[in-house]
Amino acid sequence: MPPWSPAPRRLLACLLAAPAAACASRVGPESFGPAIAPLTPPAAYAVWYEELRRCVGARGSFSGIRWYRALPGTELLDPRTGEVLAGFWTERHDAIILAARSVNDPAVVKHELLHHLRRAGNHRDPAFRPGNRCGVAPVRVPPPAFAGRPKREEPGPGASTAP
Ligand SMILES: [Zn+2]
Repeated sequence: MPPWSPAPRRLLACLLAAPAAACASRVGPESFGPAIAPLTPPAAYAVWYEELRRCVGARGSFSGIRWYRALPGTELLDPRTGEVLAGFWTERHDAIILAARSVNDPAVVKHELLHHLRRAGNHRDPAFRPGNRCGVAPVRVPPPAFAGRPKREEPGPGASTAP
């Protein structure tokens, strides 16, 4: 068992480039190895954070988030599955990891920030739904409550480009 073996509540949420169901993991940012690098958050992130925090009515600590990004010109790959991701949040170190193409995408950044604010890797918050008013990149796979509805939205080119 690796030394960073986490407590049960330590979840990692990922936003797949091809939208998929919620995913949780006990994997921390160290599992990405040299594929990611620390990121000094641009000033815009604090603005997006404040917008989101007010929209969903939550408290948090922006300065407590550790930011990472995939190296320029590379994909952010799930270290467990190899899937291409748009972003991650993990409770482990309260870290957000962004794909290179997501670094300037407020919808993806807000998606990961919402995981941070809710301290949860699931997508139960209504602001994760398509058409949310908070500018959060949605999870387009219907949650269980809507499982009976026809799936009208097939995975598009990527959640990071979703409206
Ligand atoms: Zn997510």
